[in-house]
Amino acid sequence: LVSTGTARPAGGVDGILPTLRAIVGEQGWTDDPAKLAPHLSEWRGRVVGRTPLMLQPSTTEQVAAIVRTCAEARVAIVPQGGNTGMCAGAVPDASGAQILVQLGRLDRIRDVNVEDASLVAEAGCVLADVKSAACAAGLYFPLSLSAEGSCQIGGNVATNAGGINVLRYGTMRDLVLGLEAVLPDGSVLDNLRTLRKNTAGYDLKQLFVGSEGTLGIVTAVAVKLYPDPGPLQTAMLALDHAGAAVLALAKLRERMPDRLLAFELIGARPMDFVLRHIPAARNPFDLRYEWYVLLDAAVPAAELESALIDLAAQQRIADAVVAKSHAEQTALWRLRHSISEAERREGPGIKHDISVPVGAIQEFLDAAEERLRARVPQAEAVVFGHVGDGNLHYNAHLRRDVPDADLGRLGDELTRAIYELVTEMGGSISAEHGIGVLKKEALRRYGNPVALAAMRTLKAALDPAGIMNPGKVI
Ligand SMILES: Cc1cc2nc3c(=O)[nH]c(=O)nc-3n(C[C@H](O)[C@H](O)[C@H](O)COP(=O)(O)OP(=O)(O)OC[C@H]3O[C@@H](n4cnc5c(N)ncnc54)[C@H](O)[C@@H]3O)c2cc1C
Repeated sequence: LVSTGTARPAGGVDGILPTLRAIVGEQGWTDDPAKLAPHLSEWRGRVVGRTPLMLQPSTTEQVAAIVRTCAEARVAIVPQGGNTGMCAGAVPDASGAQILVQLGRLDRIRDVNVEDASLVAEAGCVLADVKSAACAAGLYFPLSLSAEGSCQIGGNVATNAGGINVLRYGTMRDLVLGLEAVLPDGSVLDNLRTLRKNTAGYDLKQLFVGSEGTLGIVTAVAVKLYPDPGPLQTAMLALDHAGAAVLALAKLRERMPDRLLAFELIGARPMDFVLRHIPAARNPFDLRYEWYVLLDAAVPAAELESALIDLAAQQRIADAVVAKSHAEQTALWRLRHSISEAERREGPGIKHDISVPVGAIQEFLDAAEERLRARVPQAEAVVFGHVGDGNLHYNAHLRRDVPDADLGRLGDELTRAIYELVTEMGGSISAEHGIGVLKKEALRRYGNPVALAAMRTLKAALDPAGIMNPGKVI
Protein backbone atom coordinates (compact mmCIF):
# COMPACT_ATOMS: atom_id res chain seq x y z
CA LEU A 1 0.00 0.00 0.00
CA VAL A 2 2.67 2.46 1.01
CA SER A 3 5.65 3.66 -0.89
CA THR A 4 7.98 5.53 1.42
CA GLY A 5 11.29 4.14 0.23
CA THR A 6 13.46 5.62 -2.45
CA ALA A 7 11.55 5.93 -5.70
CA ARG A 8 12.98 3.68 -8.40
CA PRO A 9 13.64 5.70 -11.55
CA ALA A 10 11.90 4.11 -14.56
CA GLY A 11 14.38 5.56 -17.06
CA GLY A 12 17.11 6.41 -14.54
CA VAL A 13 17.83 9.82 -13.08
CA ASP A 14 20.51 10.53 -15.70
CA GLY A 15 17.93 10.55 -18.48
CA ILE A 16 16.08 13.58 -17.08
CA LEU A 17 19.05 15.74 -16.06
CA PRO A 18 19.13 17.75 -19.34
CA THR A 19 15.38 18.46 -19.04
CA LEU A 20 15.76 19.55 -15.40
CA ARG A 21 18.67 21.85 -16.26
CA ALA A 22 16.68 23.40 -19.10
CA ILE A 23 13.71 24.11 -16.80
CA VAL A 24 15.74 26.32 -14.45
CA GLY A 25 18.29 27.74 -16.89
CA GLU A 26 22.03 28.33 -16.32
CA GLN A 27 21.60 30.25 -13.06
CA GLY A 28 19.40 27.61 -11.49
CA TRP A 29 21.46 24.44 -11.23
CA THR A 30 24.82 23.09 -10.17
CA ASP A 31 26.63 19.78 -10.10
CA ASP A 32 29.89 21.35 -8.95
CA PRO A 33 31.03 19.27 -5.93
CA ALA A 34 32.40 22.34 -4.11
CA LYS A 35 29.09 24.22 -4.44
CA LEU A 36 27.07 21.13 -3.59
CA ALA A 37 29.05 20.21 -0.47
CA PRO A 38 27.29 22.48 2.09
CA HIS A 39 23.91 21.35 0.78
CA LEU A 40 24.69 17.65 1.00
CA SER A 41 25.62 17.64 4.65
CA GLU A 42 23.31 18.14 7.59
CA TRP A 43 24.72 21.24 9.32
CA ARG A 44 26.34 19.26 12.17
CA GLY A 45 27.72 16.76 9.65
CA ARG A 46 25.66 13.93 11.14
CA VAL A 47 24.27 12.85 7.74
CA VAL A 48 25.99 13.36 4.40
CA GLY A 49 24.27 12.48 1.12
CA ARG A 50 24.85 12.65 -2.63
CA THR A 51 22.98 14.10 -5.57
CA PRO A 52 23.60 14.25 -9.30
CA LEU A 53 22.08 17.75 -9.48
CA MET A 54 20.95 20.60 -7.25
CA LEU A 55 18.21 22.77 -8.73
CA GLN A 56 17.46 26.30 -7.55
CA PRO A 57 14.18 27.26 -9.22
CA SER A 58 13.10 30.90 -9.14
CA THR A 59 9.37 30.52 -9.87
CA THR A 60 6.52 28.26 -8.81
CA GLU A 61 6.11 27.25 -12.46
CA GLN A 62 9.69 25.99 -12.51
CA VAL A 63 9.10 23.98 -9.34
CA ALA A 64 5.97 22.46 -10.89
CA ALA A 65 7.83 21.55 -14.09
CA ILE A 66 10.65 19.95 -12.06
CA VAL A 67 8.21 17.86 -10.04
CA ARG A 68 6.26 16.82 -13.16
CA THR A 69 9.46 15.70 -14.85
CA CYS A 70 10.63 13.75 -11.79
CA ALA A 71 7.16 12.24 -11.27
CA GLU A 72 7.02 10.92 -14.83
CA ALA A 73 10.48 9.34 -14.44
CA ARG A 74 9.78 8.24 -10.81
CA VAL A 75 12.86 10.12 -9.62
CA ALA A 76 13.00 11.18 -5.96
CA ILE A 77 13.12 14.84 -4.91
CA VAL A 78 14.48 16.32 -1.68
CA PRO A 79 13.29 19.87 -0.90
CA GLN A 80 15.78 22.02 1.00
CA GLY A 81 15.38 25.42 2.65
CA GLY A 82 18.12 26.90 4.83
CA ASN A 83 19.35 23.42 5.87
CA THR A 84 19.18 24.39 9.54
CA GLY A 85 16.80 21.56 10.46
CA MET A 86 17.67 19.35 13.40
CA CYS A 87 16.67 15.96 11.98
CA ALA A 88 18.53 15.73 8.66
CA GLY A 89 15.33 15.93 6.62
CA ALA A 90 16.76 18.29 4.00
CA VAL A 91 19.68 16.26 2.69
CA PRO A 92 19.48 13.51 0.05
CA ASP A 93 20.38 9.92 0.83
CA ALA A 94 23.62 8.25 -0.21
CA SER A 95 22.22 6.67 -3.40
CA GLY A 96 23.19 9.60 -5.61
CA ALA A 97 19.82 9.21 -7.34
CA GLN A 98 17.82 11.97 -5.58
CA ILE A 99 17.40 15.46 -7.02
CA LEU A 100 17.96 18.26 -4.52
CA VAL A 101 15.58 21.21 -4.91
CA GLN A 102 16.93 24.18 -2.96
CA LEU A 103 14.33 26.95 -2.58
CA GLY A 104 16.63 29.93 -1.90
CA ARG A 105 15.90 31.74 -5.19
CA LEU A 106 12.16 31.83 -4.49
CA ASP A 107 12.82 34.83 -2.30
CA ARG A 108 10.25 37.54 -3.08
CA ILE A 109 7.92 39.10 -0.56
CA ARG A 110 4.80 39.13 -2.70
CA ASP A 111 2.59 41.27 -0.49
CA VAL A 112 2.33 42.99 2.87
CA ASN A 113 -1.22 44.05 3.70
CA VAL A 114 -1.57 46.33 6.70
CA GLU A 115 -5.41 46.33 6.89
CA ASP A 116 -5.47 42.58 6.64
CA ALA A 117 -2.41 42.21 8.92
CA SER A 118 -0.97 39.61 6.57
CA LEU A 119 2.14 38.98 4.52
CA VAL A 120 2.72 36.70 1.55
CA ALA A 121 6.27 35.44 1.10
CA GLU A 122 7.84 32.96 -1.25
CA ALA A 123 9.15 29.83 0.41
CA GLY A 124 12.84 30.72 0.09
CA CYS A 125 12.59 34.03 1.98
CA VAL A 126 14.90 33.95 4.98
CA LEU A 127 12.89 34.26 8.21
CA ALA A 128 14.80 37.40 9.30
CA ASP A 129 13.83 39.09 6.00
CA VAL A 130 10.16 38.22 6.54
CA LYS A 131 10.37 39.77 10.00
CA SER A 132 12.05 42.89 8.57
CA ALA A 133 9.38 43.25 5.88
CA ALA A 134 6.65 43.08 8.53
CA CYS A 135 8.53 45.60 10.66
CA ALA A 136 8.93 48.00 7.72
CA ALA A 137 5.12 48.03 7.45
CA GLY A 138 4.82 48.82 11.19
CA LEU A 139 3.71 45.29 12.06
CA TYR A 140 5.29 42.26 13.67
CA PHE A 141 5.89 38.66 12.58
CA PRO A 142 6.53 36.80 15.81
CA LEU A 143 8.27 33.56 14.80
CA SER A 144 11.68 33.84 16.42
CA LEU A 145 14.53 31.32 16.59
CA SER A 146 18.29 31.44 16.75
CA ALA A 147 18.54 30.21 13.14
CA GLU A 148 16.36 33.05 11.80
CA GLY A 149 19.26 34.53 9.79
CA SER A 150 19.43 31.41 7.60
CA CYS A 151 16.28 29.29 7.92
CA GLN A 152 13.56 29.91 5.33
CA ILE A 153 9.87 30.51 5.79
CA GLY A 154 9.09 27.43 3.64
CA GLY A 155 11.33 25.36 5.93
CA ASN A 156 9.56 26.88 8.93
CA VAL A 157 6.24 25.69 7.53
CA ALA A 158 7.62 22.27 6.62
CA THR A 159 8.94 21.74 10.18
CA ASN A 160 6.16 23.59 12.04
CA ALA A 161 8.88 25.68 13.67
CA GLY A 162 8.41 26.91 17.23
CA GLY A 163 11.04 29.08 18.91
CA ILE A 164 10.89 31.52 21.76
CA ASN A 165 7.58 33.31 21.15
CA VAL A 166 5.27 30.29 20.99
CA LEU A 167 4.07 31.13 24.48
CA ARG A 168 2.27 34.22 23.18
CA TYR A 169 1.78 33.61 19.44
CA GLY A 170 1.85 29.84 18.88
CA THR A 171 3.91 27.77 16.44
CA MET A 172 4.12 28.21 12.68
CA ARG A 173 0.90 26.19 12.48
CA ASP A 174 -0.90 29.05 14.26
CA LEU A 175 0.69 31.69 12.06
CA VAL A 176 -0.06 30.27 8.61
CA LEU A 177 -3.14 31.65 6.85
CA GLY A 178 -2.61 29.97 3.51
CA LEU A 179 -0.02 28.47 1.23
CA GLU A 180 0.90 27.54 -2.28
CA ALA A 181 2.43 24.10 -2.81
CA VAL A 182 3.44 21.85 -5.67
CA LEU A 183 1.97 18.39 -5.13
CA PRO A 184 3.92 15.20 -5.96
CA ASP A 185 2.25 14.96 -9.40
CA GLY A 186 3.38 18.48 -10.30
CA SER A 187 0.00 20.18 -9.88
CA VAL A 188 -0.06 23.49 -7.99
CA LEU A 189 -2.28 23.75 -4.91
CA ASP A 190 -3.19 27.44 -4.76
CA ASN A 191 -4.33 27.85 -1.18
CA LEU A 192 -2.61 31.19 -0.77
CA ARG A 193 -5.45 33.02 0.92
CA THR A 194 -5.39 35.29 3.93
CA LEU A 195 -8.85 34.41 5.21
CA ARG A 196 -9.26 34.16 8.96
CA LYS A 197 -12.30 31.95 8.55
CA ASN A 198 -12.78 29.22 5.98
CA THR A 199 -14.65 26.02 6.67
CA ALA A 200 -15.09 24.98 3.05
CA GLY A 201 -13.80 21.43 3.31
CA TYR A 202 -10.56 20.04 4.73
CA ASP A 203 -7.96 22.57 5.82
CA LEU A 204 -5.31 21.39 3.35
CA LYS A 205 -2.73 24.03 4.27
CA GLN A 206 -2.35 22.42 7.70
CA LEU A 207 -1.47 19.11 6.04
CA PHE A 208 1.73 20.69 4.77
CA VAL A 209 2.67 22.27 8.10
CA GLY A 210 5.12 19.84 9.69
CA SER A 211 5.12 17.48 6.69
CA GLU A 212 8.90 17.98 6.18
CA GLY A 213 8.77 17.91 2.40
CA THR A 214 7.11 14.49 2.20
CA LEU A 215 3.78 15.66 0.73
CA GLY A 216 4.91 18.37 -1.68
CA ILE A 217 7.05 21.48 -2.07
CA VAL A 218 5.78 24.64 -0.40
CA THR A 219 6.42 27.55 -2.78
CA ALA A 220 4.76 30.46 -0.96
CA VAL A 221 3.15 31.18 2.39
CA ALA A 222 0.60 33.69 3.70
CA VAL A 223 1.18 34.49 7.36
CA LYS A 224 -0.55 36.49 10.10
CA LEU A 225 1.05 39.70 11.31
CA TYR A 226 0.51 41.29 14.69
CA PRO A 227 0.73 44.78 16.12
CA ASP A 228 4.28 45.62 17.19
CA PRO A 229 4.39 44.63 20.89
CA GLY A 230 6.53 47.71 21.58
CA PRO A 231 9.68 47.85 23.69
CA LEU A 232 10.43 44.61 25.48
CA GLN A 233 11.85 44.23 28.97
CA THR A 234 14.24 41.33 29.48
CA ALA A 235 14.81 39.70 32.85
CA MET A 236 16.65 36.68 34.17
CA LEU A 237 15.30 34.82 37.19
CA ALA A 238 17.24 32.46 39.44
CA LEU A 239 15.40 29.45 40.85
CA ASP A 240 16.07 26.50 43.11
CA HIS A 241 13.93 24.03 41.18
CA ALA A 242 12.35 23.89 37.74
CA GLY A 243 8.81 23.58 39.09
CA ALA A 244 9.23 27.13 40.46
CA ALA A 245 9.50 28.31 36.86
CA VAL A 246 6.05 26.92 36.08
CA LEU A 247 4.58 28.62 39.15
CA ALA A 248 6.34 31.90 38.35
CA LEU A 249 5.02 31.70 34.80
CA ALA A 250 1.45 31.24 36.03
CA LYS A 251 1.77 34.20 38.40
CA LEU A 252 3.30 36.50 35.79
CA ARG A 253 0.68 35.52 33.22
CA GLU A 254 -2.05 36.51 35.68
CA ARG A 255 -0.48 39.95 36.01
CA MET A 256 0.43 40.55 32.39
CA PRO A 257 -1.79 38.39 30.20
CA ASP A 258 -0.66 38.40 26.57
CA ARG A 259 2.33 40.60 27.40
CA LEU A 260 4.71 37.78 28.24
CA LEU A 261 6.43 36.84 24.98
CA ALA A 262 9.22 34.48 25.96
CA PHE A 263 9.90 32.38 29.06
CA GLU A 264 12.95 30.17 28.64
CA LEU A 265 14.25 27.70 31.20
CA ILE A 266 18.01 27.15 31.48
CA GLY A 267 19.56 24.53 33.76
CA ALA A 268 22.78 25.08 35.70
CA ARG A 269 24.81 22.77 33.42
CA PRO A 270 24.07 24.49 30.10
CA MET A 271 24.74 27.79 31.86
CA ASP A 272 28.11 26.42 33.08
CA PHE A 273 28.95 25.37 29.50
CA VAL A 274 28.14 28.84 28.17
CA LEU A 275 30.18 30.57 30.87
CA ARG A 276 33.09 28.18 30.19
CA HIS A 277 33.15 28.29 26.39
CA ILE A 278 31.59 31.53 25.13
CA PRO A 279 33.90 34.55 25.28
CA ALA A 280 32.46 37.51 27.22
CA ALA A 281 29.59 35.43 28.63
CA ARG A 282 29.00 36.44 32.24
CA ASN A 283 26.75 35.11 35.00
CA PRO A 284 24.44 38.02 35.87
CA PHE A 285 24.20 36.68 39.45
CA ASP A 286 26.92 36.39 42.08
CA LEU A 287 25.91 32.81 42.83
CA ARG A 288 25.40 29.66 40.76
CA TYR A 289 21.74 28.55 40.87
CA GLU A 290 20.17 25.23 39.82
CA TRP A 291 17.84 26.86 37.31
CA TYR A 292 17.40 30.14 35.47
CA VAL A 293 14.56 31.66 33.45
CA LEU A 294 15.05 34.22 30.73
CA LEU A 295 11.94 36.21 29.89
CA ASP A 296 10.77 38.97 27.59
CA ALA A 297 7.72 41.01 28.55
CA ALA A 298 6.09 43.88 26.68
CA VAL A 299 5.35 45.95 29.79
CA PRO A 300 6.91 49.04 31.35
CA ALA A 301 10.08 48.23 33.34
CA ALA A 302 8.49 49.31 36.62
CA GLU A 303 5.61 46.87 36.14
CA LEU A 304 7.96 43.95 35.54
CA GLU A 305 10.19 44.92 38.46
CA SER A 306 7.25 45.13 40.82
CA ALA A 307 5.98 41.71 39.68
CA LEU A 308 9.43 40.20 40.24
CA ILE A 309 9.80 41.80 43.68
CA ASP A 310 6.46 40.21 44.64
CA LEU A 311 7.60 36.81 43.35
CA ALA A 312 10.79 37.08 45.40
CA ALA A 313 8.84 38.15 48.49
CA GLN A 314 6.62 35.08 48.07
CA GLN A 315 9.85 33.03 47.77
CA ARG A 316 8.80 31.76 44.34
CA ILE A 317 12.12 32.89 42.87
CA ALA A 318 15.55 33.15 44.50
CA ASP A 319 16.75 36.26 42.66
CA ALA A 320 16.16 38.30 39.49
CA VAL A 321 17.92 40.84 37.29
CA VAL A 322 16.22 43.16 34.80
CA ALA A 323 18.26 44.41 31.83
CA LYS A 324 18.70 48.17 31.95
CA SER A 325 19.86 48.73 28.40
CA HIS A 326 19.71 47.16 24.96
CA ALA A 327 23.29 45.94 25.49
CA GLU A 328 22.29 44.17 28.71
CA GLN A 329 19.28 42.60 26.98
CA THR A 330 21.53 41.34 24.20
CA ALA A 331 24.02 39.95 26.71
CA LEU A 332 21.30 38.05 28.56
CA TRP A 333 19.86 36.61 25.35
CA ARG A 334 23.36 35.70 24.16
CA LEU A 335 23.56 33.31 27.12
CA ARG A 336 20.48 31.49 25.82
CA HIS A 337 21.37 31.59 22.14
CA SER A 338 24.91 30.32 22.83
CA ILE A 339 23.84 27.09 24.50
CA SER A 340 24.00 24.93 21.35
CA GLU A 341 27.46 26.27 20.49
CA ALA A 342 28.69 25.84 24.07
CA GLU A 343 27.33 22.29 24.16
CA ARG A 344 29.16 21.51 20.93
CA ARG A 345 32.42 22.81 22.40
CA GLU A 346 31.88 20.82 25.60
CA GLY A 347 31.80 17.57 23.64
CA PRO A 348 29.37 15.19 22.00
CA GLY A 349 25.92 15.20 23.53
CA ILE A 350 22.77 13.17 23.01
CA LYS A 351 19.87 15.45 22.17
CA HIS A 352 16.18 15.11 22.83
CA ASP A 353 13.57 17.70 21.90
CA ILE A 354 10.61 16.56 23.94
CA SER A 355 7.40 17.98 25.33
CA VAL A 356 5.24 17.10 28.31
CA PRO A 357 2.22 18.91 29.79
CA VAL A 358 3.49 22.19 31.28
CA GLY A 359 2.27 21.31 34.77
CA ALA A 360 4.20 18.02 34.68
CA ILE A 361 7.65 19.49 34.02
CA GLN A 362 9.01 19.02 37.53
CA GLU A 363 7.59 15.49 37.69
CA PHE A 364 9.23 14.69 34.36
CA LEU A 365 12.60 16.08 35.43
CA ASP A 366 12.56 14.13 38.71
CA ALA A 367 11.57 10.88 37.01
CA ALA A 368 14.10 11.37 34.21
CA GLU A 369 16.88 11.97 36.73
CA GLU A 370 15.92 8.80 38.57
CA ARG A 371 15.86 6.70 35.39
CA LEU A 372 19.18 8.03 34.19
CA ARG A 373 20.75 7.27 37.56
CA ALA A 374 19.43 3.71 37.36
CA ARG A 375 20.04 3.00 33.67
CA VAL A 376 22.88 5.26 32.52
CA PRO A 377 24.66 6.60 35.60
CA GLN A 378 27.51 7.83 33.37
CA ALA A 379 25.18 10.52 31.92
CA GLU A 380 24.66 14.09 33.06
CA ALA A 381 21.49 15.87 31.94
CA VAL A 382 21.85 19.23 30.19
CA VAL A 383 18.39 20.77 30.19
CA PHE A 384 16.97 23.96 28.75
CA GLY A 385 13.88 24.82 26.79
CA HIS A 386 10.67 26.68 26.24
CA VAL A 387 9.07 26.04 29.59
CA GLY A 388 5.80 27.78 28.80
CA ASP A 389 5.24 25.30 25.96
CA GLY A 390 6.25 22.24 28.02
CA ASN A 391 9.11 21.85 25.54
CA LEU A 392 12.44 20.78 27.00
CA HIS A 393 15.68 20.19 25.17
CA TYR A 394 16.61 17.31 27.42
CA ASN A 395 20.17 16.66 26.31
CA ALA A 396 22.75 14.53 28.03
CA HIS A 397 26.51 14.31 28.03
CA LEU A 398 28.33 11.11 28.92
CA ARG A 399 31.23 11.43 31.32
CA ARG A 400 34.60 11.85 29.61
CA ASP A 401 35.97 8.61 31.12
CA VAL A 402 33.38 6.49 29.26
CA PRO A 403 35.28 4.27 26.79
CA ASP A 404 34.57 5.08 23.14
CA ALA A 405 33.36 1.52 22.58
CA ASP A 406 30.47 2.10 25.04
CA LEU A 407 29.28 5.47 23.71
CA GLY A 408 26.79 4.14 21.15
CA ARG A 409 25.20 1.57 23.44
CA LEU A 410 24.88 4.01 26.37
CA GLY A 411 23.50 6.73 24.11
CA ASP A 412 20.80 4.39 22.79
CA GLU A 413 19.90 3.24 26.30
CA LEU A 414 19.69 6.84 27.46
CA THR A 415 17.41 7.86 24.59
CA ARG A 416 15.19 4.86 25.23
CA ALA A 417 14.90 5.81 28.91
CA ILE A 418 13.86 9.37 28.03
CA TYR A 419 11.45 8.47 25.22
CA GLU A 420 9.77 5.76 27.30
CA LEU A 421 9.18 8.23 30.10
CA VAL A 422 7.92 10.92 27.72
CA THR A 423 5.49 8.43 26.17
CA GLU A 424 4.25 7.25 29.58
CA MET A 425 3.57 10.88 30.53
CA GLY A 426 1.55 11.59 27.38
CA GLY A 427 4.30 13.76 25.90
CA SER A 428 5.93 13.96 22.47
CA ILE A 429 9.35 12.69 21.35
CA SER A 430 9.55 15.66 18.99
CA ALA A 431 8.25 19.00 20.22
CA GLU A 432 9.57 21.36 17.54
CA HIS A 433 12.37 19.72 15.55
CA GLY A 434 10.35 17.27 13.47
CA ILE A 435 11.29 13.72 12.56
CA GLY A 436 13.39 13.77 9.38
CA VAL A 437 15.74 10.79 9.27
CA LEU A 438 17.17 10.96 12.75
CA LYS A 439 13.90 10.37 14.62
CA LYS A 440 12.15 8.14 12.12
CA GLU A 441 12.82 4.95 14.05
CA ALA A 442 11.72 6.60 17.29
CA LEU A 443 8.44 7.72 15.71
CA ARG A 444 7.83 4.19 14.49
CA ARG A 445 8.52 2.83 17.96
CA TYR A 446 6.74 5.40 20.13
CA GLY A 447 4.13 6.87 17.79
CA ASN A 448 0.46 5.99 18.02
CA PRO A 449 -0.07 3.07 15.60
CA VAL A 450 -3.44 4.36 14.38
CA ALA A 451 -2.00 7.82 13.76
CA LEU A 452 0.98 6.33 11.94
CA ALA A 453 -1.31 4.23 9.74
CA ALA A 454 -3.33 7.36 8.89
CA MET A 455 -0.12 9.23 8.02
CA ARG A 456 0.95 6.39 5.70
CA THR A 457 -2.47 6.38 4.03
CA LEU A 458 -2.22 10.14 3.43
CA LYS A 459 1.31 9.82 2.09
CA ALA A 460 0.32 7.00 -0.27
CA ALA A 461 -2.74 8.91 -1.50
CA LEU A 462 -0.83 12.10 -2.31
CA ASP A 463 2.45 10.55 -3.36
CA PRO A 464 1.74 7.02 -4.64
CA ALA A 465 5.16 6.71 -6.31
CA GLY A 466 6.93 7.86 -3.15
CA ILE A 467 9.04 10.48 -4.93
CA MET A 468 8.69 13.29 -2.39
CA ASN A 469 11.49 13.25 0.19
CA PRO A 470 11.46 9.46 0.50
CA GLY A 471 12.92 7.87 3.61
CA LYS A 472 11.96 10.83 5.81
CA VAL A 473 9.35 10.95 8.63
CA ILE A 474 7.48 7.67 7.94
C1 LIG B 1 20.98 27.38 16.09
C2 LIG B 1 19.64 26.78 15.75
C3 LIG B 1 18.56 27.07 16.56
C4 LIG B 1 17.31 26.53 16.28
N1 LIG B 1 16.26 26.83 17.10
C5 LIG B 1 15.05 26.35 16.81
C6 LIG B 1 13.93 26.69 17.63
O1 LIG B 1 14.04 27.38 18.64
N2 LIG B 1 12.73 26.20 17.27
C7 LIG B 1 12.55 25.40 16.17
O2 LIG B 1 11.42 25.01 15.89
N3 LIG B 1 13.60 25.06 15.40
C8 LIG B 1 14.83 25.50 15.68
N4 LIG B 1 15.89 25.16 14.88
C9 LIG B 1 15.69 24.22 13.76
C10 LIG B 1 15.45 24.87 12.39
O3 LIG B 1 15.97 26.16 12.33
C11 LIG B 1 13.97 24.86 12.03
O4 LIG B 1 13.52 23.52 11.94
C12 LIG B 1 13.65 25.58 10.71
O5 LIG B 1 12.25 25.71 10.62
C13 LIG B 1 14.16 24.84 9.48
O6 LIG B 1 14.08 25.70 8.36
P1 LIG B 1 15.06 25.50 7.12
O7 LIG B 1 14.65 26.46 6.06
O8 LIG B 1 16.46 25.54 7.51
O9 LIG B 1 14.64 24.02 6.66
P2 LIG B 1 15.59 22.84 6.18
O10 LIG B 1 16.50 22.43 7.27
O11 LIG B 1 16.20 23.16 4.88
O12 LIG B 1 14.49 21.69 5.95
C14 LIG B 1 13.80 21.12 7.03
C15 LIG B 1 12.75 20.15 6.46
O13 LIG B 1 11.77 20.86 5.73
C16 LIG B 1 11.75 20.46 4.36
N5 LIG B 1 11.60 21.69 3.58
C17 LIG B 1 12.37 22.80 3.60
N6 LIG B 1 11.85 23.74 2.79
C18 LIG B 1 10.74 23.19 2.23
C19 LIG B 1 9.76 23.66 1.30
N7 LIG B 1 9.82 24.88 0.79
N8 LIG B 1 8.76 22.82 0.97
C20 LIG B 1 8.68 21.58 1.49
N9 LIG B 1 9.57 21.09 2.37
C21 LIG B 1 10.58 21.89 2.72
C22 LIG B 1 13.06 19.73 4.12
O14 LIG B 1 12.92 18.74 3.13
C23 LIG B 1 13.32 19.12 5.49
O15 LIG B 1 12.60 17.93 5.61
C24 LIG B 1 17.15 25.68 15.15
C25 LIG B 1 18.24 25.40 14.34
C26 LIG B 1 19.48 25.93 14.63
C27 LIG B 1 20.62 25.63 13.72
